[in-house]
Amino acid sequence: MSEITNHLPTAALQALDVAHHMHPFTDAEALAAKGARVITRGDGVFLTDSDGNRILDAMSGLWCVNLGYGREELADVAARQMRQLAYYNTFFQTTHVPAIALAAKLAELAPGHLNHVFFAGSGSEANDTNLRLVRRYWDVKGKPSKQIVIGRKNGYHGSTMAGASLGGMAGMHAQGGLPIPGIVHIDQPDWYGEGGAATPEAFGLARARQLEAKIAELGEDRVAAFIAEPIQGAGGVIIPPETYWPEIQRICDAHEILLISDEVICGFGRTGQWFGAQTVGARPDIMTIAKGLSSGYLPIGGSIVSDEIAQVVGSAGDFNHGYTYSGHPVAAAVALETLRIMEEEQIVDRVAGVVVPYLAAAWARLAAHPLVGEARTVGMMGSLALTPDKARRARFAADAGTIGLRCREQCFANGLVMRHVGDRMIIAPPLVITEDEIDQLVDRARRALDQTLQAALADGLMVAAA
Ligand SMILES: *Cc1c(COP(=O)(O)O)cnc(C)c1O
Repeated sequence: MSEITNHLPTAALQALDVAHHMHPFTDAEALAAKGARVITRGDGVFLTDSDGNRILDAMSGLWCVNLGYGREELADVAARQMRQLAYYNTFFQTTHVPAIALAAKLAELAPGHLNHVFFAGSGSEANDTNLRLVRRYWDVKGKPSKQIVIGRKNGYHGSTMAGASLGGMAGMHAQGGLPIPGIVHIDQPDWYGEGGAATPEAFGLARARQLEAKIAELGEDRVAAFIAEPIQGAGGVIIPPETYWPEIQRICDAHEILLISDEVICGFGRTGQWFGAQTVGARPDIMTIAKGLSSGYLPIGGSIVSDEIAQVVGSAGDFNHGYTYSGHPVAAAVALETLRIMEEEQIVDRVAGVVVPYLAAAWARLAAHPLVGEARTVGMMGSLALTPDKARRARFAADAGTIGLRCREQCFANGLVMRHVGDRMIIAPPLVITEDEIDQLVDRARRALDQTLQAALADGLMVAAA
């Protein structure tokens, strides 16, 4: 294979990038002052940038490259499928083999009653589909007033109008008049950040019961569904207390509320089982999938839907919804190959049996660091809560994210991609990471924490908010 080389030096690439490329979730002026890091290559869990630095990617790109970079099988399958049938749609009573095979495979992998797949190009699009699906479902069922969907503050469900509205990111809602009508939010089950003096168990129950209170306030006859990530990802890897999900499930069952489990991050082995709903013990009516579905090699998402919903929505004429690229044959072929590799290499079992406990133990040792108030993992996702005062779970007096951003920069300087969400540091490494690479990850993280602490002390930032 011949290498795709850069013909321009890094500074020239950065100048063109600044001049013409609008970046997602980015302060353009701040980026222009600094220049973007140009990534040129990936192999296994490592990235290479345009200056030749090798960086351990503890975020799997954006939570998606679960099989690591540079898998020849995925490249080969994409090329083969492009040569045979690069595109055809699945509208108007047509279909093709990759979409059929992938839908059947997903039905086999998903929990028992989830056997029908509506394809999309991304997680955001799939959640747009879900909003349409649940409203249509209740309409056809003869309960057309059940139209409101309840989400959670600091949840993340994508960046389209529906996705951003279902999510509860205050910074997103503040731009563009969101949420759209018919979507409301309850508080998140973030015990570390918001639990105060309550025990995690009591707090988990209290936060779940906000759903019941919200349903009572709105009227059960107006609520279509509740949407949540089994474990919040973009919100900062917030792991709910164990009491939370069983209570959510009870409430959804008791009030005829559909449960949408957004598995875009948690799906496909991330939590140590195929789906996050299985890890937290939930029985969703719809699961949103994307990201790890294709290991990030091509964009594809979808909704895995219950027999009941598919039957009802399918019983009343056209469902007037779909995307040009729903079930795109090349993306579907790559997703199918991703799942084949996961089964052949027994990735989910290996991760659950060997890698998850190893990561959990290595990560937990970071809790002893003076800057770390909490170090937790579920499966292959982990978080560190940075704090100036461990005993009180205190926030910093400095603006939220000041220390987190500094820590992220130190991680980069030490050859590690670790993301920050406010002052939480988060990881979700490729599922194929080895024990030796986990040691490297944690060593680099510890070095970055040391340097962040030294700098914060020197700058007088180790001060708790009043
Ligand atoms: C990333 C993400 C989405 C959005 O997926 P896109 O492919 O970026 O549109 C939706 N839900 C969750 C939980 C996510 O993490």
